[in-house]
Amino acid sequence: MKIRLGLLVFVCLFLPIGLLGGLAPAAAQPEVRAARIGETQERTRFVLELSESVPYRVFTLPDPFRVVVDLPEMAWVVPENRQPKVRGLITGLRFGLFAPGTSRVVLDVSQPSHLQKVFVIPPSDGKPYRLVVDLKQVSREQYFAAAGKAPTGGPGRTTGAAPGKRQSGPTVATSRQPLGAPTAGLVPRLKPKPPSAKPVDARPLIVVDPGHGGVDPGAIGVSGAYEKNIALDYGRALKRALEATGRYRAVLTRDRDVFLKLRERIAFAQKAKGDLFISLHANIHRSGKIRGASVYTLSETASDKEAAAIAAAENAADVLAGVDLTDQTGDVRDILIDLAQRETMNLSKKFANDLVVEVGRDVKLLRNTHRFAGFAVLKSPTIPSVLFEIGYMSNRQEERLLRGKAHRDKVVVSIIRAIDGFFRKQNTANRS
Ligand SMILES: [Zn+2]
Repeated sequence: MKIRLGLLVFVCLFLPIGLLGGLAPAAAQPEVRAARIGETQERTRFVLELSESVPYRVFTLPDPFRVVVDLPEMAWVVPENRQPKVRGLITGLRFGLFAPGTSRVVLDVSQPSHLQKVFVIPPSDGKPYRLVVDLKQVSREQYFAAAGKAPTGGPGRTTGAAPGKRQSGPTVATSRQPLGAPTAGLVPRLKPKPPSAKPVDARPLIVVDPGHGGVDPGAIGVSGAYEKNIALDYGRALKRALEATGRYRAVLTRDRDVFLKLRERIAFAQKAKGDLFISLHANIHRSGKIRGASVYTLSETASDKEAAAIAAAENAADVLAGVDLTDQTGDVRDILIDLAQRETMNLSKKFANDLVVEVGRDVKLLRNTHRFAGFAVLKSPTIPSVLFEIGYMSNRQEERLLRGKAHRDKVVVSIIRAIDGFFRKQNTANRS
């Protein structure tokens, strides 16, 4: 009878998501109420306490080694002071929305690890449903041997296991109910919908890209601010202000706390036929003293070590979110910078110069504020693209500014001045 009830809840939760494309279900959102990590000599155990029985999928990813737990869209209501402490094989943990309808936990593991057991314990002794994942360290050879084909240990295989039954498998474990679309065991991918083309509207289209999101929080500030939230806050404000001028159209790559792959951001901008792409970020530095805004454009070689380090950190977004990189042949990572892109890169540099001048009138800039490096998200072949690091969340004063409205409004106004200048020059150039 209990199992039947569980199935009923499943149907209620998943039909609306499946049919209406990620609209919030009428039923209360299921919750993750606690998370624990335990360690014995034999294994590392990861436990999630759940408000109800939900379908799940657990799989491992290599290089870097990660364990991914996919669940339906859930709220993480673990109290701040009871967040799990990393230990054993687990060196990092993130939770958030991976795509509409799919919440994800990503565990960073220090060694190649097998899923020794994955099972659900039904409620007992006052404890709710518990999803248990036991990890066992294996050699690199054993890891890839079990994955079937080296070195793509992705979520290709699925093995069914009813909740409550013990399940052992090397790379993938799922509950009987598929999570989202059953295609090759993959989660439903977010398909951003650019606005339909309106040929009559010749106003430039600005694609505003709030960095990170969902399971990828981005940098975390001195007092705990998340880069993904600051980026979204600035992105929404910039879009609103652009539209209010009447001179531009504006779209956001994401308008909620959800993860987007770097290449999805580029694809979105290309499909929308954007005229300018602005990716918004905030960063951190070992030294709490460093502060100031900075602007980055794409280059084959980084202008300095610091710019290279920032690009590496920003390019790691997909890894942090538990994306399998092994199937990304022909990915944006490998796009050659050809002649078409060189022209785009020149325009990007021009806009970056305008941005530095305009932002510098109102807020503090980093020294050598326009820098170059191989940012994956800036590799749009035809759209001038810049990455704007609004400030350093590792600096107490600047983090406070970044969280406030006054600073945000100042920055937004200066970005729009730069955009005005950029298109004014473009028009002049086109006419001459
Ligand atoms: Zn960032």
